[in-house]
Amino acid sequence: MVCPYCSSKEVGKIGVAQYYCWNCFLEWEIDENGKCIFYQVEEDGSLSCLNDIFGDDWFKEA
Ligand SMILES: [Zn+2]
Repeated sequence: MVCPYCSSKEVGKIGVAQYYCWNCFLEWEIDENGKCIFYQVEEDGSLSCLNDIFGDDWFKEA
């Protein structure tokens, strides 16, 4: 698993289908349909859903 955003291999698994990139601080989960849902971790520790901000297609899987 590499980060789908920055291609870093500094990726940690934080849940059943949840991952975290130590390089760009992006968090994402893969839902039951195989769709990636991305979150940005804010300075206060809260999560902003990037799919809500940019839409579902801001990232196209390579
Ligand atoms: Zn990354």
